[in-house]
Amino acid sequence: MTQYKPQTRAYAAQQATAPLAPFSFERRVPGPNDVAIEILFCGVCHSDLHTARNEWHNTIYPSVPGHEIVGRVVAVGDAVKNFKEGDTVGVGCMVDSCQHCATCAEGLEQYCENGFTGTYNGPLFGGENTYGGYSSSIVVSEKFVLKVSHTDKLAAVAPLLCAGITTYSPLRQWGVGKGHKVGIVGLGGLGHMGVKIAAAMGAHVVLFTTSPDKKADALRLGAKEVVVSKNEDEMAAHANSFDFILNTVAASHNLDPFIALLKRDATMTLVGAPEFPHPSPGVFGLIMGRKRLAGSLIGGVAETQEMLDFCAQHDIVSDIEMIRMDQINEAYERMLKSDVKYRFVIDMATLG
Ligand code: NAP
Ligand code: ZN
Repeated sequence: MTQYKPQTRAYAAQQATAPLAPFSFERRVPGPNDVAIEILFCGVCHSDLHTARNEWHNTIYPSVPGHEIVGRVVAVGDAVKNFKEGDTVGVGCMVDSCQHCATCAEGLEQYCENGFTGTYNGPLFGGENTYGGYSSSIVVSEKFVLKVSHTDKLAAVAPLLCAGITTYSPLRQWGVGKGHKVGIVGLGGLGHMGVKIAAAMGAHVVLFTTSPDKKADALRLGAKEVVVSKNEDEMAAHANSFDFILNTVAASHNLDPFIALLKRDATMTLVGAPEFPHPSPGVFGLIMGRKRLAGSLIGGVAETQEMLDFCAQHDIVSDIEMIRMDQINEAYERMLKSDVKYRFVIDMATLG
């Protein structure tokens, strides 16, 4: 193994109300199964903001967010089989899981029965904190490292590692394909990936937005129709017509108007994880059509690789706005105003 320096530069939140600021710490020395990665780009997910500001009431400080990581391998442990120095790789939302429960054996590490280890904010059920991708390097067990093939658009690939897999996984799980009428709610980081991926799967995609000025973009990204969700007449025109709806909204909102648009037996899956609970659903909207409300969390390692390969094959990347590391606090404020087209990505060369 070549010399790897554990000293790592980063940006961290020290408490919920503090802006992110420079921070440094030491990564572990790579073990036999570890891959050490120089981080080139990191996407900015709304979950980073929820975590930095302790909106899920589980943040361990200091908090270094970032789980849409692409970079270059700088060192590998002796037992690493699939990666070598110089490879272009990705790391998503997980860096470990128990690897022995039945769920891990199925390749569903995100639902690990003993709790997966998040790329940032540590293991779900106690243990040491982990520091994410707003940093110069990361050391990850080979099992959780992904191969990135469309290396010419590396910055725009970064958001696939969370926004891409979080939308791809439920679209696959609920069998979206040709001839299906599929709704995507919210045109943010997740939503714009959902539109692109569902369209590539052959679905008739309808985008629901609270921002009428995003209409042209939604059509350009692959939606066939756009509905302003606050407009009751526009909503009513689609009653009982959807095979599937994927809801990516980052804020608490009324779910009933969307449930009313599902066909009998159809499902709306929530991936958005707002700070405050939704005020609904009402029971009748569900029982009067045997409709289903579900949830979905990111995707497993194998499925993440499948998604990256699918996106490479269909030439799908994220629409990004590149920022410097020191613009992160401003980027969070803009994200809260739905003012991002459609993912901020940090150029880690600006970390200083
Ligand atoms: P984002 O880029 O901020 O996009 C969220 C979108 O939601 C906005 O662009 C906006 O779209 C819509 N929206 C915002 N406030 C709204 C409101 N009050 N009412 C209705 N719509 C509103 O966020 P993101 O990074 O895509 O993440 C979305 C959510 O998914 C976050 O809660 C995040 O934590 C969660 N997440 C979950 C998973 C998982 O595994 N389940 C993974 C990653 C992220 P319009 O302007 O089009 O209305
Ligand atoms: Zn994320």
